[in-house]
Amino acid sequence: MVKYIFVTGGVLSSVGKGIVTSSIGKMLQARGFKVTAIKIDPYVNVDAGTMNPYMHGEVYVTEDGGETDLDLGWYERFLDLNLGKNNNITTGIIYKAVIEKERRGDFLGRCVQIVPHVTNEIKSRIRNVAADSNVDIVLTEVGGTVGDIEGLPFLEAIRQMRLEEGYENTLYVHVALVPILDVTKEMKTKPLQHSVNELRRIGIQPDIIVARCSQMIDSEALRKIALFGTIPENAVFCSYNVESIYQVPLILDAQGMGDFVCKRLGLPERKPNYDDWKSFVDAILNPEHEVRIALVGKYAGLVDSYVSMNEALRHAGAACKTKVHIHYIEAETFEKSPNKVEMLRDFDGIFVPYGFGSRGAEGKIAAIKFARENNIPFLGICFGFQLAVVEFARNVCGLKDANSTEINPNTPHPVVDLMPEQRGVELKGATMRLGAHKVIIKPGTLAYKLYQSEEIIERHRHRFEVNMVYMEKLEKGGLVFSGRSPDGRRMEILELPDHYFFFASQFHGEFKSRPGKPDPEYYGFVKACLDRKLGKAKPEFQP
Ligand code: GLN
Repeated sequence: MVKYIFVTGGVLSSVGKGIVTSSIGKMLQARGFKVTAIKIDPYVNVDAGTMNPYMHGEVYVTEDGGETDLDLGWYERFLDLNLGKNNNITTGIIYKAVIEKERRGDFLGRCVQIVPHVTNEIKSRIRNVAADSNVDIVLTEVGGTVGDIEGLPFLEAIRQMRLEEGYENTLYVHVALVPILDVTKEMKTKPLQHSVNELRRIGIQPDIIVARCSQMIDSEALRKIALFGTIPENAVFCSYNVESIYQVPLILDAQGMGDFVCKRLGLPERKPNYDDWKSFVDAILNPEHEVRIALVGKYAGLVDSYVSMNEALRHAGAACKTKVHIHYIEAETFEKSPNKVEMLRDFDGIFVPYGFGSRGAEGKIAAIKFARENNIPFLGICFGFQLAVVEFARNVCGLKDANSTEINPNTPHPVVDLMPEQRGVELKGATMRLGAHKVIIKPGTLAYKLYQSEEIIERHRHRFEVNMVYMEKLEKGGLVFSGRSPDGRRMEILELPDHYFFFASQFHGEFKSRPGKPDPEYYGFVKACLDRKLGKAKPEFQP
């Protein structure tokens, strides 16, 4: 019998539900149980692919090519899982499915309604994930905040699941903010009480309440939360501020949450084993070195736009006992005042992330040129890879005004161009080259040194690619394409052999980076930043 844990949020969004959900999963995994996780997003978009990363944070790409909510990234990193499209359920997906069924005549003669047709669709999708993944426990996080209009059908569906699956097989966790007043330093539980009331009004009584507070809540706050939440005090936990997000499962479990969850769900009680997790957390908390990295991007104002990249840099840092400081620099800075690019000299490495469209592109190209000419370690991902090709074409191969046709459709040298299969594609949703594809690596290259394999599988999300017509010219100039698609026609990795570390990929290594298992390209970059800082003639990579 599969157990279901549902996580809702109160008071405001971005309260850390995704981390709490991931942490519960970790506590159960540490006790030897198999888990999976689902994110419900009540917005009407079918997937996150059509949203602006500046507003909603990054689009997380799954192995099967899903363009999903960034919380799936947290689940994958915390639980070391590969999830898929089906682990992200949106209002768009649900309504699309229900309307398609209605048009097909599946409900012929009946009036199609939110209850039961929409709620049935939601429940069956949650149960399908349970059936497909062969796990002991399915965690389902409902995005947004209790009280949102668009979240109601989902809350109704999870309410019904208690009746259908049974009390001992379902558990409701409510995560809500407990603010501390500036003036009196008092912990205020009233907003949390109201959100619990709102949840109860629609028929859900939480079994566990997690107070999100900057500090550990005091006994008075705990007592009030339990009293007004109608739960025992040992069902109240606190997710307080910690130095590293990866500590959260440890601090919650130390409060007894793991044992409480197991007991409540009738799971056998077991001692958790956190050995690997703790040694990773130790490496994060006790670095011996530090490096400063300039991230030159266009969504620099919102850290969540680059969350998987930040985490991949941190995982890589932990592997070489190095704290990675990431400085976000708006690429347009270097367009408005070209001399400012000199500021990059103070950094140990330059990183150009994914991106779309022309805003800031010239600034990124200027940063790449600076990295190349000054022998500063450089890592480019996706758009960063494409712009490294543009920079090299212009400034080394002498192809004046070379560009990507994404930026300038009329460039005389379209060194990066739309992929042939993208021509004629008009719909914008889920039409990029997405998800896992094989990459063949050339032996004897830096790429081979990092990946130690001639064949890897990496995740993608792009419409443009290096134009084969310019291959010879670029290679003659000294650019090495050390990774390609199996048919050899698609460039996947570039490197400059004479540079300290100049590496870029069309794919996104960050989506496969895990605590304790850093992604090779991110590891190579951070290690090169460190070794150059330590004055080593060449970076030394440990396999
Ligand atoms: N805009 C580029 C493309 O569509 C790069 C995309 C990306 O960085 N993910 O190919």
